[in-house]
Amino acid sequence: MAGHDIFRLSDVSVHYGRRAALEGITAQIPCGALVALVGPNGAGKSTLLRSLLGWLPLSRGEIRLGDEHPRHLHPRLAYLPQRLEIDWDFPISVRGVVSQGRWPALGLLGRFNAAERERVDRALEELDLTALADEQIRRLSGGQQQRMFLARAIAQGADIFLLDEPFNGLDLAASAELLHLFQRWLGQGRTVIAAVHDLPLARAHFSHALLLDTRLVAAGPTAEALSEANIDLAYHRRMPVLGARP
Ligand code: ADP
Repeated sequence: MAGHDIFRLSDVSVHYGRRAALEGITAQIPCGALVALVGPNGAGKSTLLRSLLGWLPLSRGEIRLGDEHPRHLHPRLAYLPQRLEIDWDFPISVRGVVSQGRWPALGLLGRFNAAERERVDRALEELDLTALADEQIRRLSGGQQQRMFLARAIAQGADIFLLDEPFNGLDLAASAELLHLFQRWLGQGRTVIAAVHDLPLARAHFSHALLLDTRLVAAGPTAEALSEANIDLAYHRRMPVLGARP
């Protein structure tokens, strides 16, 4: 059962050149959970997401889901890039993007038959995008853009969603809608792992958190992992030394 799998990170380090972006991370990430990756800018949140996808060579340690290397987990794993990384002027419709979720399964000679079309239609419907299927992607609101990539992931057959700052640039209503969707997925055994810089949002809506500062500061149920003391540690805040002389 997907819901019982666990990502295991054992002593994971990642370097860009000589610079460590992650150092000695040992943690377990439960599946069927809503997991926030939290930490200051440059703490390694994006790097951890890419490592979980199997895209980056680890300089030490290993990552497994069950017994599997992340590279062998397609189509279960899906990645949502930051919205800024996307060329929104590229001429493609919402349905075109969602259909991309089927490409890997089709292979070079595969044909986009009725069953494939049906899968895409169901994904569009699940994310409430049916009415927008033929729109160009640049015409979508921020929230609709996020839902489009989630629909592509659903069409792919993913059940583990890795998202880089999904709430960035969304207004309150769109954020609430996205959170509502994630809560519903939780009940369906789906897993969301998201880099989140909004601490109150992470505390209020995520079941688990990993707090990073190149090293792992804390991991576990959100209330414990994101305690004030841990946040101070990760963000290097120091108590003012009262009465200290200059
Ligand atoms: P976060 O997502 O928490 O802001 P990142 O994972 O993006 O952190 O970055 C962690 C560290 O690695 C930062 O110091 C960043 O400058 C560096 N870094 C990230 N990507 C690259 C890259 N492609 N090449 C070199 N350094 C990088």
